[in-house]
Amino acid sequence: MMRSHYCGQLNESLDGQEVTLCGWVHRRRDHGGVIFLDIRDREGMAQVVFDPDRADTFATADRVRSEYVVKLTGRVRLRPAGAVNPNMASGAIEVLGYELSVLNEAETPPFPLNEYSDVGEETRLRYRFIDLRRPEMADKLRLRSRITSSIRGYLDENGFLDVETPILTRATPEGARDYLVPSRTHPGNFFALPQSPQLFKQLLMVAGFDRYYQIAKCFRDEDLRADRQPEFTQIDIETSFLEESDIMGLTEGMIRKLFKEVLGVEFGEFPHLTYAEAMRRYGSDKPDLRIALELVDVEDQLKAVEFKVFSGPANDPQCRVAALRVPGGASMPRSKIDEYTKFVGIYGARGLAYIKVNDRAKGVEGLQSPIVKNIPEANLNAILDRVGAVDGDIVFFGADKAKVVSEALGALRVRLGHDLELLTGQWAPLWVIDFPMFEESDEGGFAALHHPFTAPKCTAAELEANPGAALSRAYDMVLNGTELGGGSIRIHRKDMQQAVFRVLGIEAAEQEEKFGFLLDALKFGAPPHGGLAFGLDRLVMLMTGAQSIREVIAFPKTQSAADVMTQAPGAVDAKALRELHIRLREQTKAE
Ligand code: ASP
Repeated sequence: MMRSHYCGQLNESLDGQEVTLCGWVHRRRDHGGVIFLDIRDREGMAQVVFDPDRADTFATADRVRSEYVVKLTGRVRLRPAGAVNPNMASGAIEVLGYELSVLNEAETPPFPLNEYSDVGEETRLRYRFIDLRRPEMADKLRLRSRITSSIRGYLDENGFLDVETPILTRATPEGARDYLVPSRTHPGNFFALPQSPQLFKQLLMVAGFDRYYQIAKCFRDEDLRADRQPEFTQIDIETSFLEESDIMGLTEGMIRKLFKEVLGVEFGEFPHLTYAEAMRRYGSDKPDLRIALELVDVEDQLKAVEFKVFSGPANDPQCRVAALRVPGGASMPRSKIDEYTKFVGIYGARGLAYIKVNDRAKGVEGLQSPIVKNIPEANLNAILDRVGAVDGDIVFFGADKAKVVSEALGALRVRLGHDLELLTGQWAPLWVIDFPMFEESDEGGFAALHHPFTAPKCTAAELEANPGAALSRAYDMVLNGTELGGGSIRIHRKDMQQAVFRVLGIEAAEQEEKFGFLLDALKFGAPPHGGLAFGLDRLVMLMTGAQSIREVIAFPKTQSAADVMTQAPGAVDAKALRELHIRLREQTKAE
């Protein structure tokens, strides 16, 4: 071992002791004949003083620059009273250095580490190995490691086996595009990288493993959407012979222990909300319950009004008319309302009607709004009573296709919660249950809301008779408006799996071709099973307070799914392509 101590671990108890440190020169200062080096390593920083008594050592100290890698030996001594640095773990001591060797030099770094500077993300990613030297970055990765070790500890204690599943595999449908890998030995054929270990973990249940987990890399080739990574990590879990309540209980325990251990935060029991209720009250299947605002349905009051903007949707079963009361919002200036109108436009809303409640005692006179003249007073009052409006409030309205209203007002609710600082606490975990089995896809058919292996709450016959109404045995864990994890009880019978495939438009031949191995497994004694997966990156992001998942991944890809450091993806030479039986189209080559 080259070092005796880490820099950040030195303290007063070592006064008078000789230590050997290894690390990077964080800062070098020349103080009238004395040189101070702040040396940095994984655990923190130490101040080392060199005086001219030892000419050789002093000359070396004089020569080193930022980010040189050095090894030094010296004696710990207490700093004089006035020189104590309370911001540094080792701030009460310093080291009087008497040996110093340069293990490696460093060119001037592309951005300074010893002072704050605003560095573009591209540059940070290009030189990630330097970026990760910054203590705030290192802290996040350290916390990430504590998180996985807490989770592994919990799952190990609860009898889960850590089993690896293949990366070169067949497609596992989770709703995204596959990353494909050409096969050299099977011309014209491709592996797919797993979108999740879903089918393999189910096969492990068929094999009798009973409780499985894996911290698994997953790959999804999705279009540029905010804050996604093409490869990301899941805490993947599967169990046999457990009901949804058992699985939710077990994994809730895991998250509760994790937060207690790592952040010292204690959660109570997580509330359960049905999907329908979550959509109705919060306009989202991952509601942020820290925000006390709620959507309230009011279509019954607007069916008969002359105003088509409201009466149209109020009489259409595909539509929704909802109100959102914002306490104290009446003082909001017109420009703010315009901004929010633009904001809900992102979700397809064609406007944002509102009523400012200035003085309810004055009736319609006390309301300020472009729409009140279109609504009979009795209905207005019924609406204002229902949402609980009092003087000083503003009430926003959405009237459109149900999906548009829920998404627009749901997003507005969250935005208002943050803008008006209406958050009621730091953490709000919950379970969302009773999801629909399917959603209608753009092409008119049905698509699995979770994935095609999720068990319905009904029989196969009921499912096929009315797929749109079927609920699934799926559950999501949500924290602060983010889906932390999701899973379900799976289909463990072949006939049910085939019924679901049929609803999805996957006919017998395609079932056999794509999922023959699964159908086989279901016919050879598949036990009832279910599980879920947590998104590790997002969990770490929430727990570290990071602004992006790229901040909690050591070597993330950019928004355009590239690695600017290794320059991946990159071109390959003609020989490699030939071996893979691939010929590029002329156009692709030119690009
Ligand atoms: N495989 C699912 C997913 O990645 C999670 C699960 O159902 O366990 O979303």
